[in-house]
Amino acid sequence: MRFVSRVGETIAVKNGAVEGATASTDLGFGLRVLKDGAWGFASSSTPGLEEVLAVADRAVGIAKASALVPGQRAKLAPVEPVEDRWESPYKKDPFDVKLADKLELLLSAEKRVRDGGGGKVMVAQASAGARREEKSFASTEGSYIEQAITECGAGLSAYAVGPGELQRRTYPNGDRELTGCYGWEAVEALDLVGNAERVGQEAAQLLEAKKCPSGPKDIILDTTQMVLQIHESCGHPTELDRVYGTEAGFAGTSFLTTDKLGKFKYGSDKVTIVADATVPHGMGTFKYDDEGVPGQRTVLVDKGTFKNYTTSRETATRLGQKASNGAMRADGWNRMPIIRMTNINLEPGDWTLDEMIKDTKDGVYMEINKSWSIDDKRLNFQFGTEIGWEIKDGALGDMVKSPNYTGITPEFWAGCDAVGDKKHWKLWGTPNCGKGEPMQVAHVGHGSAPTRFRKVRVGVGQ
Ligand SMILES: [Zn+2]
Repeated sequence: MRFVSRVGETIAVKNGAVEGATASTDLGFGLRVLKDGAWGFASSSTPGLEEVLAVADRAVGIAKASALVPGQRAKLAPVEPVEDRWESPYKKDPFDVKLADKLELLLSAEKRVRDGGGGKVMVAQASAGARREEKSFASTEGSYIEQAITECGAGLSAYAVGPGELQRRTYPNGDRELTGCYGWEAVEALDLVGNAERVGQEAAQLLEAKKCPSGPKDIILDTTQMVLQIHESCGHPTELDRVYGTEAGFAGTSFLTTDKLGKFKYGSDKVTIVADATVPHGMGTFKYDDEGVPGQRTVLVDKGTFKNYTTSRETATRLGQKASNGAMRADGWNRMPIIRMTNINLEPGDWTLDEMIKDTKDGVYMEINKSWSIDDKRLNFQFGTEIGWEIKDGALGDMVKSPNYTGITPEFWAGCDAVGDKKHWKLWGTPNCGKGEPMQVAHVGHGSAPTRFRKVRVGVGQ
């Protein structure tokens, strides 16, 4: 049984005016029941013993009905019962900061975005968000776990308009109000005001910039684009429920079938990717998942070789593994947990960004994802970014607009020959990962450093 309570806040300003300030609260409980190898789930937003008993009856009834359908019976990998409480750390409670102070910061940053755009920026926006989720988990196996997770973040965006053209520039990373498990200190550290003019200026400059050159090029992706690259081409295809076909919505399934486990060459020997729920401040960081399994660090790709999936207690058993690696999470109280990414991170290498650029003859450096498309097996992809700069003979050159690249997942990662070092490594939050029917939105994280990929098909996007 899980009891989940959430409070959230979103503030947005646009073109000098407050566009919205919303506060939300949501609470309820859900009961998941395993009977005769079949699942039942029911939930309610009305706490109280009578309602709990009624919901339990309903969940058992659904499990009994599910058991009538022939098919795979669920067997759960064991987990040690535990009693524990955990809170994600933060310094300044975002819900204690005055609304007026938040608005003043956003309005002043947003004005500077327009100033920087010099009349070319038609829409400027600034927004901030915070969320706190408190959840209790209790199981008939003897676990009782309480967790409180606080998230916070803010961002800027500028839309510049020219004849038949719209260019976007954002800071720090696309349309993400939440950037990690922090308090308001994370928003202060962003220095929105200090970055605002540049954001507006670059949006305007993109209108005049030349088109991204086409053809095979070496590309260096900033961490803000690596987030999406890792998410779509490694995070999703290593979710074991997609492999078993129990999850096929939203470009479900996967090319990483179980016969490939332990031997398939996913990428070059520079590529080590982990699922790590233990890294501080990640949006996929927690102490226990929604099956009571401890959050942990699992190597998915080890020096290029595909080594593991993110799993649940049920799928771990089916795969022949002794234990789940703790990736089951539900979007609130009225959904069953499903396998979700934790923080899927590319381990750092030993390059500085300067060294990487100096070592590149003919390439493009790209920042911040703008568009994406990938097939349901997660093999063929096309990703577009906000902005790029040409790299010519070891130096950054002209700004280019709408850089876009395509690839086939294992070929693309096989071309990875340089990964940035620890100093360049950065963990980003993705608060909008959609999966399942009915849809569940998960908050996940992706850490990486700037990374180079050789001979990638580059072109101009939208
Ligand atoms: Zn996703």
